[in-house]
Amino acid sequence: MVEATIDLAALCANARSARELAPHSRQLAVIKANAYGHGLLAAARALEPLADGLGVARAEEAFALRDAGIDAPLVVMSERPDRATLAELARRNVALTVFDRTVAETLNAGGGARMNIWLKIDTGMHRIGIMPDEVADTLAVLRASDAVGDIVLMSHFAAAEELERPLNDAQLACFDRAVAGTGLPASLANSAAVIALPESHRDWVRPGIMLYGANPFDEEHAVRLQPVMTLTAPVIAVRTIGTGESVGYHGIWTSARPSRIATIGIGYGDGYPRHAPNGTPVLIRGRVVPTAGRVSMDMVTVDVTDHPEIEPGDTATLWGEGLPIERVARAAGTIPYELLTKVTSRVRFRYRDASDAQ
Ligand SMILES: *Cc1c(COP(=O)(O)O)cnc(C)c1O
Repeated sequence: MVEATIDLAALCANARSARELAPHSRQLAVIKANAYGHGLLAAARALEPLADGLGVARAEEAFALRDAGIDAPLVVMSERPDRATLAELARRNVALTVFDRTVAETLNAGGGARMNIWLKIDTGMHRIGIMPDEVADTLAVLRASDAVGDIVLMSHFAAAEELERPLNDAQLACFDRAVAGTGLPASLANSAAVIALPESHRDWVRPGIMLYGANPFDEEHAVRLQPVMTLTAPVIAVRTIGTGESVGYHGIWTSARPSRIATIGIGYGDGYPRHAPNGTPVLIRGRVVPTAGRVSMDMVTVDVTDHPEIEPGDTATLWGEGLPIERVARAAGTIPYELLTKVTSRVRFRYRDASDAQ
């Protein structure tokens, strides 16, 4: 059976590490996209006592949290709501990120309960956000509205995990110019900036990926993070093949010697990346073994020639404890964010809470 074991004690430890890195900032723990694939409610319940608020992308995610009785401050970060959604956000006390002036004007016309607003400024990402020269006008619209409560000014880095990029400094400078004199709290830092750009911490930080134990940096910033998801699957078969035999669909791997091939019962139907090339690391019995052949829907093949002790019934770890997801992502040409969020509903989730962790 394919299992994702979710270590909630590790999630909490990572949230505390984020807090230690940004001790003077409030923490909006980002749990969008089903808590990066870890389970929205479980993550929310674990993080609620530690964080100052929870960040999601969409209104539906916030409503699911409210439905489940989560009453922490919530911020919806990337939705353009219609009127009905706006009213429900206000009614359910969910803060909205406003990223254009017409939405600010809709708020003004809306009436009803007051809602807290995070006003997003486009400092160089060029995806969403008002332009820096629109800040004053948009704030005037918001401040004139009875429907608006507290306001936080925010922006998002395009390349915080690339330390050499002048874009980070340019975005910071742009943000500082845009918010100067407003006297409002500010928020810029995602995980990479929490770790490596302390000058960006400000009033609120917004860590996401680091909470789940993935470090956005390779080696240059060692931070104490623990993996939260460990993805495992059984070895379902082992066979020996001769030299020059190919393995799997379209024969993208061919044995250079007589080889033992172990077949693991996981595939892209579970969220293991189909584009993982030959040589992507898998952990079995403490040994790192390379994938050999195309990932199929239900199975992955690995070369265990050098490990005769590996046999059917063994448990393979695809990422997590003992095999950092950063390493798997790098081998597969992707990022931990994508691997984590693509785990499918076929996978059984098991939660280990803090009390199980001794
Ligand atoms: C997803 C997201 C974050 C968290 O980013 P990480 O890189 O996962 O730390 C922070 N802020 C916003 C606006 C986001 O959308």
